[in-house]
Amino acid sequence: MTDIRLTLNNGTTIPALGLGTWQSPKGEVAAAVEYALTQTGIRHIDAAYVYQNEQEVGEGIKKAIESGKVTREEIFVTTKVFPSYHTRVAESLDKSLKNLGLDYVDLLLIHWPVGFNPNGNHELFPRLEDGTTIDLDPSFDVVKTWKQFEAVYKTGKTKAIGVSNFSIAILEDLLPHVEVVPAVDQIESHPFLAQPELVAFAKSKGILIEAYSPLGSTGGPLLKLPEIVKIAEKHNASPASVLISWHLKEGRIVLPKSVTPARISSNTIVVSLDKDDLEVLDSLHKTHKPIRNIKPAWGANRLKFPDWTE
Ligand code: NDP
Repeated sequence: MTDIRLTLNNGTTIPALGLGTWQSPKGEVAAAVEYALTQTGIRHIDAAYVYQNEQEVGEGIKKAIESGKVTREEIFVTTKVFPSYHTRVAESLDKSLKNLGLDYVDLLLIHWPVGFNPNGNHELFPRLEDGTTIDLDPSFDVVKTWKQFEAVYKTGKTKAIGVSNFSIAILEDLLPHVEVVPAVDQIESHPFLAQPELVAFAKSKGILIEAYSPLGSTGGPLLKLPEIVKIAEKHNASPASVLISWHLKEGRIVLPKSVTPARISSNTIVVSLDKDDLEVLDSLHKTHKPIRNIKPAWGANRLKFPDWTE
């Protein structure tokens, strides 16, 4: 288990290894969170309003605290404001706090730099009449949403604020107008989507990278890729540990998801990657076409990631 903590640009610290909770089913996620916090040393939980399981995540946190093995102050909890709430940030945070059973979170993120119609035909995914196209809000303004983040930050209901799915271009739209620089940018990140320009840009602005879908998301497709398996075999480690350790070694936060106790546990085993391993892992994005697994239809072009054009 790693006890690496990284320092955010507001001086607070964040455990570098967190547990993801997207697609973690109700009925399983409370136990997974409790297990992670009480049995493995994990101290960081990545949640979101849109995952619709915050209540169960909160139950897991509550049970872990009640066990006496961990205190609220030792746990780092993140949640996110979804695009249908881009005009109602304080309301979204209050709903998340109620769901989680907490009086503050440690980090609140703009989940995606887009806005959906806040008065549409669905709370989270409003659609146009054709039933398939998302009902976007053309008046979305990332700066206006960020100003609401700065306001909730001042209330103390969140200890830090950040962004997610922000490309360099979108960060450049936002940064000249901020009072508080985002603490993190949570993005899809693994050796096949390394995005070194974005990573360097964020670093130059004091923004930490949080790597989501580090195993390739649902089913962990990257775990089978031969380059990863080879390094895992060399170290007698799991491919998941290799992918997770790569981020830890290079100073990024990493958020693998699992509801399987044995995997939650083994994902905390850090591999001592050597220079040769890092050379391979750092060059895979040059020899492979980008693999981007999280591509909601409304993101193409609009989010301005160079590899995501359709
Ligand atoms: P991951 O890359 O973490 O992969 C999760 C999948 O890998 C699950 O199917 C899990 O199965 C499986 N898995 C986990 N560990 C192992 C292992 N050791 N061996 C084999 N299989 C394994 O995917 P996510 O997309 O969930 O990303 C992680 C987290 O990042 C999310 O849960 C969420 O918190 C965050 N995220 C944020 C996004 C954003 O827009 N900000 C978008 C996407 C993710 P099982 O659970 O059955 O064990």
